[in-house]
Amino acid sequence: MDTHRVGSSASAPAPGAESTLAPDALTMGLDVGGTTIKGEIADASGTVLAAGAVPTPRGAAAFEAMETLGDSLLAELPADRRGLLGRAAVLLPGIVDTERSIAVFSGNVGWRDVHVGDRFTRHWGVPVSIEHDVAVAGWAEWRFGAGRGHDDVVVIVLGTGVSGTLAAGGRLVRSGFGQAGEYGHIPVRPADGLPCPCGNVGCVETLASAAAIARNYIRRSGREVDGAAEVFALLPGDPAAARAVDDAVAALADGLLGVIHAACPELVVLGGGLAGAGAALSEPLQAALTQRLRVVPVPKVVLGEFGARAGLTGATLFARHGALL
Ligand SMILES: [Zn+2]
Repeated sequence: MDTHRVGSSASAPAPGAESTLAPDALTMGLDVGGTTIKGEIADASGTVLAAGAVPTPRGAAAFEAMETLGDSLLAELPADRRGLLGRAAVLLPGIVDTERSIAVFSGNVGWRDVHVGDRFTRHWGVPVSIEHDVAVAGWAEWRFGAGRGHDDVVVIVLGTGVSGTLAAGGRLVRSGFGQAGEYGHIPVRPADGLPCPCGNVGCVETLASAAAIARNYIRRSGREVDGAAEVFALLPGDPAAARAVDDAVAALADGLLGVIHAACPELVVLGGGLAGAGAALSEPLQAALTQRLRVVPVPKVVLGEFGARAGLTGATLFARHGALL
């Protein structure tokens, strides 16, 4: 039986339907990144009862590490609550086939076509869903974070890469091809931009990811920095930092023009680790969109509420709700 999807297990509702757990049920979420696997167990109020992290082994061995981390989180629970785990969710990077429960590809972790099947469900004895990490992070910001109460919301998850989600008419836009919202690979400088690892030239990500902002600063100033946060900390006095941030904002604004004209979102939510830059990022992006848009209303640019924790928080919420609705 195909029990890896919450919607397809005998006790759960039809696929795509929201389902409720008992009020005292706990949910577990794992968020698998390129360097670290993080996990949490939370109750219905969102209180975190157990949390932990382990380094991500390369390749398919990462799946054993996910099980081990989950086991240790469960062992952390007080004895009287250990039997209350109701459902879990495991968020995977790269390309994820949730229908067939296959981790299709992750360049960062180095796996290809790993059949997850119902291994987690068998291991932990509760329904376990796998999902795409960014889809869940964006859903969480839309439904429970900075986008809550709005039906038409673009969430951009800014971090190592640039991607996100689109909610239109109160629904998360998904595609039969997998993830919708690859904002980072919209080419905005195709004529004179930098090569992107995807094979194109001048993608949003070549200027607006955290790594790209740091690289741009180093190229312009000749000085080393550890990351984008350090570049933002040099504002406003350092001209090279100002240029690197300007370039990132312009690339984001240009990349968003198409989706804004197509979907007329009310909000653009800046999520992910880079959103920690705060107003230094959101205010110039708001100004750049205002300057560029003529026909469609200018969406409000706001900062995400979950930051780099959107995936992990989203995972326990997704496990509780049973669907990205
Ligand atoms: Zn690209």
